[in-house]
Amino acid sequence: MSYIVLDLEFNGAYSKRQHRFFNEIIEFGAVKLDDNLRMVDTFSELVTPQISKKLNSHVSKLTHINMTELKECNRTFTHVLSKFKKFLGDGVLLSWGTSDVLVLMENCRYFDGVDTLPFLKAYCNLQSYCEAALDYHDRSRQMGLSACAELLGIGFEDDTLHRALTDAELTSLCFQKLYDPALFERYLDVCDETFYRRITFKNYNIYDIRDPQVNKKEMFFLCDRCSRKARRRSKWRVKNKTFRAKFRCSRCKREFEGRITFKKTFDEVKVIKRIAELPDPKKKETESPQNSDKEN
Ligand SMILES: [Zn+2]
Repeated sequence: MSYIVLDLEFNGAYSKRQHRFFNEIIEFGAVKLDDNLRMVDTFSELVTPQISKKLNSHVSKLTHINMTELKECNRTFTHVLSKFKKFLGDGVLLSWGTSDVLVLMENCRYFDGVDTLPFLKAYCNLQSYCEAALDYHDRSRQMGLSACAELLGIGFEDDTLHRALTDAELTSLCFQKLYDPALFERYLDVCDETFYRRITFKNYNIYDIRDPQVNKKEMFFLCDRCSRKARRRSKWRVKNKTFRAKFRCSRCKREFEGRITFKKTFDEVKVIKRIAELPDPKKKETESPQNSDKEN
């Protein structure tokens, strides 16, 4: 079995045909790893845009790609995709986060009128995989590729990043360092109908306290100093789609704000809890208690 680590560069363009913004792929970069995770081949192709008239400034700044070279390479998306399919063969596709797969689907739908990627047999999101392998628990933010590389002591030069092949190479190095067959098995998806429903599912926060998916039994906090269950001292309020309330620990007198997010994903409702310091008491004096409870 071979592993193909893919990275794409894309440019946001307005499609007059579809009256909406569209992420047009401008570069494919990929690395092929063999059974023993040795790099055996690479793939690097620019794509001539058919919708984008110019590159967004952040895209050209990040990638150093310019429109002239994209026009000069004179390759359509369909052409580069067919070359990439040959490169992929029946290998497993890997990418850092799902956005590359979603953008690939978006381009296939636009240019070839197909909603899925029939050439894809199996896929693994290496961002989720590496987070699990590193036991990374900050569920409020996802780990970036360069942060992961730094954690693993993999050297890279900042200004060579954000080109498809360099990013794919760096992703491969992270994968090689963190490879664990049993864990990988758990993160490997067969690209069936469920896979497409899961990957296109848009996560959202549930913040209506009457929603049955809000499990009230989860709405407690342990003191972050002594681990005893803290008492809630205010009503729940909602801010940024997150429930917040004041808590107090009766043992060590610690007071804090407990924040809970109920995030609906395709598979589950994730409960994310954070402890924050209470707002500055000096500011609180000028605010009536009723107001702070109603604040939304
Ligand atoms: Zn305590």
